[in-house]
Amino acid sequence: MKRIAILGGGESGVGTAILAKQKGYEVFVSDFGKINETYKDVLSNYELEWEQGGHTDALILNADLVMKSPGIPDKAPIVKALVEKGVPVISEIEFASRYTDATIVAITGSNGKTTTTMLTGYILEQAGLQPGIAGNIGDSYAKMVATQDIETYVLEISSFQLDGVVDFAPHIAVITNITPDHLDRYDYKFENYIASKFRIAMNQKETDYLIYDADDPVITDWLKKHPVKSKLLPFSLHREFENGAFIKDNNLVVQIDNNTFTMTTDNLALKGQHNTKNAMAASTVSNLLKIRKATIRESLEGFQGVEHRLEQVLKINNVQYINDSKATNVNATFYALDSMSAPTVWIVGGVDKGNDYRDLYALVNEKVKAIICLGVDNAKLMSHFGNMVDVIVETPSMTEAIKIAYKVAERGDNVLLSPACASFDLFENYEDRGRQFKAAVRDL
Ligand code: ADP
Repeated sequence: MKRIAILGGGESGVGTAILAKQKGYEVFVSDFGKINETYKDVLSNYELEWEQGGHTDALILNADLVMKSPGIPDKAPIVKALVEKGVPVISEIEFASRYTDATIVAITGSNGKTTTTMLTGYILEQAGLQPGIAGNIGDSYAKMVATQDIETYVLEISSFQLDGVVDFAPHIAVITNITPDHLDRYDYKFENYIASKFRIAMNQKETDYLIYDADDPVITDWLKKHPVKSKLLPFSLHREFENGAFIKDNNLVVQIDNNTFTMTTDNLALKGQHNTKNAMAASTVSNLLKIRKATIRESLEGFQGVEHRLEQVLKINNVQYINDSKATNVNATFYALDSMSAPTVWIVGGVDKGNDYRDLYALVNEKVKAIICLGVDNAKLMSHFGNMVDVIVETPSMTEAIKIAYKVAERGDNVLLSPACASFDLFENYEDRGRQFKAAVRDL
């Protein structure tokens, strides 16, 4: 019997364990920290062996195959030891894909993964398909493969999951954009991070597709130097293509082999240039999957967006409060500010990931009337933006930040939480930050 060791007892670890047992593996789950109670119950229901609070090296190093959960860095001693010994270490995406013949759509990028995945999934659902929407979001992909009969998967895939890919070859791959992020896991080399993202296409065949943002020079330069086998379907806000997606006379156009889909951009439910790009990616996928054009159009008109991504919370005294807590890097905040059509009170700050704020200068000058710095250390924000607006204040409390915003904002303004930073200084995670924002707004 083949032995698999699974590092990490979270959603992807437990899902992999279930699938591996079904496929006849002897399974051992090992979590360096604590496994939560719900997952423990699932593991015992499936009669799976597990440990927590440390790794029993002997059991893990003797496995034939190891699945490493995405949160565990390659630098972890156990992973180093496995690599040294030559034990294959793969990701959940790789493992689960070996056991399904479904059509696979895989979406990666620095920003827009969740939105594009959910939007694509929504279109397929509206078309009556029952897609498996998984990967970095929701239920485990491996568990779905084990327990459900799914014909089409839409997978959100992070670079960490791509690092553990060997043969994974999606029929349709999407790269939304590539900007520096998570560089601590890539030896602080942007090149390594770009290479990781492109692993999504490395096993694709001539009959597969790669959809990508042609306005992103990082992607286009990389493709020039590292050609892929799959058919290229670029999308752009500024250029037109024989095969690809683009904007023409205020219409979103997708053209593939002389088959054309169009709809007016005014009817897109999700606002902002970045969301127009996400809509181009999702509608290109849907056209490849031969979804009816009317269904694609209606879905793009009806999709209500994802929580914490430019989420319209409430209008109070004609001031719109917007929760963009998921903007944990400068690029995401760039597009948030860009999409503001009214003077904006901007709540920003948290844990800086080596941010270069210069990209935001023009937008802040144009759109921002007041800045509320919400973080433990706001020195960098103060030095970049201190002279740019009339009002700039610091606070370590969300309630306080909202009270200040309420005072400063006038009828017709926006109050935008788009932090450009991680949340760990004051909050548990970005969801907690977004929920606190919404609660404080509702308390007004
Ligand atoms: P991801 O899953 O890649 O983190 P999300 O869809 O959760 O992406 O969005 C993360 C943040 O990036 C949000 O603040 C959102 O408004 C912004 N965003 C969404 N799509 C894009 C895009 N195509 N380009 C840049 N920023 C985007």
